[in-house]
Amino acid sequence: MAYVVTEPCVGCKYTDCVVVCPCECFYGDDRQLYIDPGDCIDCGACLPECPAEAIFPDTDVPARWAGYVQLNADRVAVLKPAGMRVTEKRTA
Ligand code: SF4
Ligand code: SF4
Repeated sequence: MAYVVTEPCVGCKYTDCVVVCPCECFYGDDRQLYIDPGDCIDCGACLPECPAEAIFPDTDVPARWAGYVQLNADRVAVLKPAGMRVTEKRTA
């Protein structure tokens, strides 16, 4: 199991979520952030930090965003080797 970032994250300028993650699971591109399903330990710390309510456990993702489970895995597979980890809150 892992936590998943879904559509409400698109365009988010606040990255409150990344600061609380004990495993540095978050990766980002121009669109949104994604959680590494391999590194996430299901602690749930990030969920209440997201003002957009974009984060769900993968067992509880709303049906309309079900594709985001695979999208998080696919994008992390690209972004991780590219060094696109996000660990500090963006202030822009
Ligand atoms: S706080 Fe929520 S919406 Fe903002 S970057 Fe993090 S997951 Fe995305
Ligand atoms: S559930 Fe915990 S380990 Fe997983 S991304 Fe959120 S804060 Fe990080």
